[in-house]
Amino acid sequence: MERQTSCADSFEVDAISVDDARKRIFEKISPITGMEKLTLRSCFNRILAEDIYSPINVPSHINSAMDGYAIAGDDLPTDSPQRYEIIGTSYAGKPSSANYQKGKVIRIMTGGVMPAGTDTVIMQEQVALIDEHTIQLQPEHTTGQNVRQAGEDIAKDCLVLSKGRQISAADLGILASLGIGELYVYRRPRIAFFSTGDELRSIGEKLQEGEIYDSNRYTLYGMLTQLDVEVLDMGLVRDTPEAMREAFKSASQMADIVITSGGVSVGDADYIKPTLKELGETYFWKVAMKPGRPLTFGSLHQSSENTWFFGLPGNPVAVMVTFLQFLQPAIHYLSSGNIKTPLTLQATSTSKLYKRAGRTEFQRGIFKQTSDGEITVKRTGKQGSGILTSMSIANCFIILSEDSTGVDEGDTVKIQPFFGVI
Ligand code: AMP
Ligand code: MG
Repeated sequence: MERQTSCADSFEVDAISVDDARKRIFEKISPITGMEKLTLRSCFNRILAEDIYSPINVPSHINSAMDGYAIAGDDLPTDSPQRYEIIGTSYAGKPSSANYQKGKVIRIMTGGVMPAGTDTVIMQEQVALIDEHTIQLQPEHTTGQNVRQAGEDIAKDCLVLSKGRQISAADLGILASLGIGELYVYRRPRIAFFSTGDELRSIGEKLQEGEIYDSNRYTLYGMLTQLDVEVLDMGLVRDTPEAMREAFKSASQMADIVITSGGVSVGDADYIKPTLKELGETYFWKVAMKPGRPLTFGSLHQSSENTWFFGLPGNPVAVMVTFLQFLQPAIHYLSSGNIKTPLTLQATSTSKLYKRAGRTEFQRGIFKQTSDGEITVKRTGKQGSGILTSMSIANCFIILSEDSTGVDEGDTVKIQPFFGVI
């Protein structure tokens, strides 16, 4: 008879490592190719679908970096103070019409075009104003100072932003400085998700004995909304093969990725795995990690396009851990074709941490930086996979590797802050 596995097992030959699971996900998923043309503001946070070359120099002309006086470097005083006549003013956007000559200067404002013949700006704070038309300069200046060259920030025809990049606030500014008002970006991934479980009730319903409110759909909603995706909340699905089959079919027709929570263990009411087997393919279904072990990854073949399937465990902490470790990078890869690595840091543990070898653990921790710059971390307390408050209190995961057998106070551990990728 086939041995029934349970969540109490610590070693399992068919559980793959966390790194292996990530590798298989990136191998299977193919990035989105569909694109749309949007106006600049609407491109914020979207993934660029074209390489952008600069059509112009930025700045487009040689200009002053300071308010002051424009002069030719070879007319600067060399050993004694010199007087100069002011013959005009160059404002930003309004160049001077005066003809520069030696012995003269032209008043210039920040961003003002450098008059022909000048190549140096003297800050107004370093100038002695003799009268309305005359200044005196000390012999302390260098040729070329306080001048911004044309194309100093971006040279014409150079590659400015590459395809696959997520457009930041700085990028919006750069594109505006190039006069680019429309861009091709990839379409947003569509992510459908639903909860499974006969014990689940929606907010507003009365709980009968043994029932709980569905919280996973809300944490998933929050985590998905932080990413730039189209979120399709498909509600609650009952633990029957028919309900599951229908939900799988309609979700896969609408979405690039379908996420479920619950029903992936080996209980009698766990219909996720048989339904995936019937309607698609399973790539793996168990990861050597805690929490999050019964994680299923596969694909569904219900439409001409690929739909990838992630069956997350039901326990609320396991949902968040598996989402952050696998789905977040998978969705970013789907959107952009880029693999982002979560930022990890070394920290000194101020707690003793218990652990069994054979699986990677994602304990919840609170890290801080002491006044002398050291990063320390303590665990949040109870680490059960149903203790959702541990995720709310924590600001990082403490990642304990597969071979670790625990950590003593004062040991160095690896942490993964909840924010930040590199
Ligand atoms: P399962 O994997 O379906 O056996 O679920 C494991 C545990 O997670 C059970 O205690 C479930 O009641 C709980 N659970 C499953 N889905 C949810 C949900 N959507 N919200 C809160 N708890 C859930
Ligand atoms: Mg269930």
